[in-house]
Amino acid sequence: MKYMALLCALIAIIACGCGEKQNQNEPITASDFQLDTVVTLSIYGQGDKSLLNDAFGEIGRYDKLLSRTNPGSDTYRLEQNAGEGFVAVSSDTIFLLKESEKYSRLSGGLFDVTIGPLVSLWNIHDGTGHYPTEEELDSAMALVNYEDVLIDGDNAMLKRKGMAADFGAIAKGYIADRVKEFLIGKGVKSGIINLGGNVVLIGGKPDGGDFHIGLQDPDAATGEYMGIVGISDKSIVTSGPYERFFMYEGKRYHHIIDPKTGFPSDNGLIQVTVISDDSVTGDALSTTLFLMGLEDGMKLAGDTPGVSAIFVTTDKKVYLSSGFDTTFNITNPEYSLAP
Ligand code: ADP
Ligand code: MG
Repeated sequence: MKYMALLCALIAIIACGCGEKQNQNEPITASDFQLDTVVTLSIYGQGDKSLLNDAFGEIGRYDKLLSRTNPGSDTYRLEQNAGEGFVAVSSDTIFLLKESEKYSRLSGGLFDVTIGPLVSLWNIHDGTGHYPTEEELDSAMALVNYEDVLIDGDNAMLKRKGMAADFGAIAKGYIADRVKEFLIGKGVKSGIINLGGNVVLIGGKPDGGDFHIGLQDPDAATGEYMGIVGISDKSIVTSGPYERFFMYEGKRYHHIIDPKTGFPSDNGLIQVTVISDDSVTGDALSTTLFLMGLEDGMKLAGDTPGVSAIFVTTDKKVYLSSGFDTTFNITNPEYSLAP
């Protein structure tokens, strides 16, 4: 039941052939439910399913290490020991904590890896959700502050009891990069890694052309596109309020939470897509830009080298960041490029 709901709700970007026949060079493809989402791996030209199984094994290993809900994971132990002492964590966790801090600084604290208490309070992940009282909000918000993450070599600590780190906005990108590295190490030259809409491409299509990635229509059922992006060897990640949410008194409450208000971010954006070389940047930045809103987000995207971003507002206007250098066509006429 939970599986089906997530299956329907989560695939934000779908890699597709988009009308082109690929009779030759059919990929080897496998899907699995991992990282609380649908993961699909496709490789072209060589290898066999066992390579994909090994890649799924890698994903599972990272999930065990990074997921807050996995007893024994780094984030689990950080939470258990919050306010008490440092814990030894993996280099992956140290990297993600430092990377998260970078986006916190860039966004004036809107991106915050210590969002855990608010994520737990809203309970959006299990699909039911909880509309919090003011007292509940106040006490959860008081526990969110990225400046209270302490790092000492390979050890980390959350300064105050009750704090919790949550890599939900960045881990999929990081893991997608690791899967790409793994597959390239095994000789793969062409492929698509799709971690629930966090898409990373290995090279281009076997015929040398770009992959065509359908961009989820933020206002339609999963799998309907509003446009198509043509890219090779890059990462493409979207963030949007339609990915995980619950309804309360006729209003949608989604999973990207503004730590300043304690509420799901509500600033007129319905989708942000980031195209970048690595996916840890794309994942962290798409959530960051979504939280920052159109004006500040466009500025940060334009100022970030190697990044092209697509912003969609509630009135179905599409904005491209300055220096946008990716092939992108809007296919749904309800959407239009902002002047
Ligand atoms: P998805 O998980 O659907 O790919 P995002 O990458 O945008 O979407 O990340 C959303 C997740 O990030 C939430 O489910 C939550 O775990 C976490 N999160 C929510 N609000 C924030 C925030 N302000 N800063 C950092 N992480 C957040
Ligand atoms: Mg993200």
